[in-house]
Amino acid sequence: MKVLIVSSEVVPFAKTGGLADVAGALPKALKAKGVDVRVVMPKHDCPNCKCEGEYLTHFGVEFDGRTETAVVLETSIDGKIPVYIIDNKNFFSRPGLYGESGKDYDDNALRFGFFSKAVLELCLNMDFIPDVLHINDWQSAMVAVYKKVFYEDKISSKVLLTIHNLQYQGVFDPLFLPRLGLGWDLFDMEKLEFYGKINFLKGAIVFSDAINTVSPTYAKEIQTPEFGYGLDGILKHLNYKLYGILNGIDYDVWNPKTDPLIWENYDVQTLEKKQINKKELAKYTNLPENRMFFGLVSRLVDQKGLDILIPAVKEMIKYTDACFVFLGSGQPEYEEEVAKLSKEFSDRVWAKIGYDNELAHKIYVGVDAFLVPSKFEPCGLTQMISMRYGTPPVVRNTGGLADTVVDPNEDRPEAPCGIKFDDYTAHACFAAMKRAYEIYTSSPSTWRDWMTAGMRKDFSFSSSAEEYIKLYKKISS
Ligand code: ADP
Repeated sequence: MKVLIVSSEVVPFAKTGGLADVAGALPKALKAKGVDVRVVMPKHDCPNCKCEGEYLTHFGVEFDGRTETAVVLETSIDGKIPVYIIDNKNFFSRPGLYGESGKDYDDNALRFGFFSKAVLELCLNMDFIPDVLHINDWQSAMVAVYKKVFYEDKISSKVLLTIHNLQYQGVFDPLFLPRLGLGWDLFDMEKLEFYGKINFLKGAIVFSDAINTVSPTYAKEIQTPEFGYGLDGILKHLNYKLYGILNGIDYDVWNPKTDPLIWENYDVQTLEKKQINKKELAKYTNLPENRMFFGLVSRLVDQKGLDILIPAVKEMIKYTDACFVFLGSGQPEYEEEVAKLSKEFSDRVWAKIGYDNELAHKIYVGVDAFLVPSKFEPCGLTQMISMRYGTPPVVRNTGGLADTVVDPNEDRPEAPCGIKFDDYTAHACFAAMKRAYEIYTSSPSTWRDWMTAGMRKDFSFSSSAEEYIKLYKKISS
């Protein structure tokens, strides 16, 4: 089985979100199961990116009425998985991956159109025709469209599209269509047209052989108007080729037994040592150690439920003695509100606004309960990480959160490991945190059972990889 994973960002070369985590971890798990897996991405030049490699080849790509050159560098993940980095200065020599100062680049249609076409040319240039071209999100969506229009007789690969977050679709002015070298016949409701614009992700939804999202529940949710962002109709229509495969987390990185970034290592047998981490976190944040700690590590954006969480935290401050540790960055209004909360209640709330990987590790281990009150959550990694570290999560019952967390009130065979709430309201969020608080303070043995149940769950990429291999086989046989 030969698979080419196409992604605009890949850990450890470039990352803005969960897509990069998956594009970096899934190939390792596939390789371990014998798949000839390779990865291709653009060469970003932004300050936090490390897109370096040895020169491999170069070729011309007919694009936007001229011949653009694609220079290909080769590197690897862990010395085992070949990674091809496509360089083109016009399109990728920029300070940001997709934009700057909160504004998208206005030629993103061309940048990622070029990338997608160059990926197909690379397959021909290297004579590497994979069984499956595994594309991810709107940035590589045009691979499916170009393949159907120009390469069907030369590249026999099947195409799998993974949707990591349906909110981002790559919607552009239709006048880009001729510049992308595509005919107006594609400007059709059944193809790329989307409310008078062109929609890259819709193109891939139509032209891919299979589609998956990153959890079974999100695969169902995106077929409804509430979660579909305008694509629910077409997804429902094409649901015979729509699957849900839960993401995993990288067990090499997220392991309480070996994590070099936490204060004290431990595992399920030495769980009492987790408390040392709490003690240190209490010192670090200047919060009283003998209280229940709730933690949050998140992008501070609408999706993540900050509008219900902030009033719910205020209620918790009123009715309990719990403390809160926040880490995140994102929309200025949420950054301000979180910072304000920590100033107003400095003996109960500590916050850092920013991105800080080391502190994130320390919060996952140092708090007693972890908060994920998302409005929607395609899969969510943070609840899986917190469970792996023995920190029960309090989550909204949506998407991957619904699939991975088991509440004691649910009728499921697995042991409970956290708390869930349904309604997207501050009151429901508060009630869930209060429930957690009551169990934590009144029934330590129940709480401990939840901690160990979470730690014993298997969130490794190995099971996800098996599901992907089944799907690759299904579409390529
Ligand atoms: P999304 O991709 O929607 O942001 P996920 O739950 O899939 O959400 O992935 C979030 C990842 O980013 C996790 O690894 C989490 O630890 C990390 N993360 C989020 N915010 C921060 C932050 N401010 N500092 C450090 N890591 C963060």
